[in-house]
Amino acid sequence: MARFDPAQGVRRRGALSPLRYVLAEELLNAGAPVGSHWIADRQSGPLILKYGTESQKQFYLPRICNGEAFFCIGMSEPNAGSDLASVRTRAVKTDTGWTLNGQKIWTTNAAGCHFMIALVRTSGEADDRHKGLSQVIVDLSLPGVTVRPIQDLSGDSHFCEVFFDNVLLADDALIGAEGRGWEQVTAELAFERSGPERLFSSIVLFDEWLAYVRTPQGRTESAQRLAGKIISQLSPLRAMSIAVTERLNRGESPVVEAALVKDLGTGVEQLIPAAIADDLFSREAQNAPLELLLTLNYVTQASPSFSLRGGTRDILRGMIARGLGLR
Ligand SMILES: Cc1cc2nc3c(=O)[nH]c(=O)nc-3n(C[C@H](O)[C@H](O)[C@H](O)COP(=O)(O)OP(=O)(O)OC[C@H]3O[C@@H](n4cnc5c(N)ncnc54)[C@H](O)[C@@H]3O)c2cc1C
Repeated sequence: MARFDPAQGVRRRGALSPLRYVLAEELLNAGAPVGSHWIADRQSGPLILKYGTESQKQFYLPRICNGEAFFCIGMSEPNAGSDLASVRTRAVKTDTGWTLNGQKIWTTNAAGCHFMIALVRTSGEADDRHKGLSQVIVDLSLPGVTVRPIQDLSGDSHFCEVFFDNVLLADDALIGAEGRGWEQVTAELAFERSGPERLFSSIVLFDEWLAYVRTPQGRTESAQRLAGKIISQLSPLRAMSIAVTERLNRGESPVVEAALVKDLGTGVEQLIPAAIADDLFSREAQNAPLELLLTLNYVTQASPSFSLRGGTRDILRGMIARGLGLR
């Protein structure tokens, strides 16, 4: 297989993003296992392209593209989830680099990742809010890093607590400018909030249900109306998601637009399991295939998290209102 040339990738950045969108959509539609490389591909790679030094690009990008470097997002802390500006994890400058101390939480797939891009305080106090924050790339195999998986309601352990105890980082662990972490993290969240995964978390369930509704024993008028309702919501949202991707691709930071896509998208993602459960359990004949019921069970358990991860519904609506000049 051809190896990725980062220099060419940087030059062809404009041509890469639509291809990524199509690929991501197809992978999600097929229910492919995308978790390991998802975050590096979606946001760590683009962040490194945007803010990294040439040597950071040369080191990380080929590894990301070859599936050799998995990244996780180190934003949330026990007392800084929605209120990210109050993070307390701190990197202190030394002669040779940085000493990192603190804790992250809810870090998706940290136990299976090689690197974290962490939002940390490099100067000032938590009360200083947006001032004094920076982003650092943390090699999770370094001494002093402890990763502890957290079990969720469904029994999965896909997110973790990550502890930093005097972790020594090299000078070039800093990504972007010192003290500009808030601006960078805001731009990064636009990558996180607008992609097809913010519309398609329930799409495998929807497809399985549609397959049942197409059979003589599954077909009802109300199910057909529900299918139309869901498709008519998904279709314009997909167009909006593509429009945001085009703006990201031009190097813009459509933060409010991305928040809007995520808020509306997760609404449809949560409607799908709830409406399908209503449809299936209100039928006289209980003849839905077992596979469909198992998928419904899994998606129903996961669906509350759709409007939490990547920023809660309340926070996104606050951002949209501010963007519209309403608050
Ligand atoms: C499945 C999943 C995966 C995740 N993966 C990651 C990850 O990889 N990396 C990472 O850093 N984080 C991750 N998170 C964390 C996620 O970003 C946070 O859970 C989220 O930002 C909310 O923060 P919190 O849990 O501290 O809740 P809090 O901020 O304590 O919020 C609690 C409630 O109060 C509401 N609220 C808070 N502030 C306001 C306000 N100003 N106005 C109105 N309402 C408000 C919220 O909407 C929410 O309903 C993940 C979360 C989930 C569920």
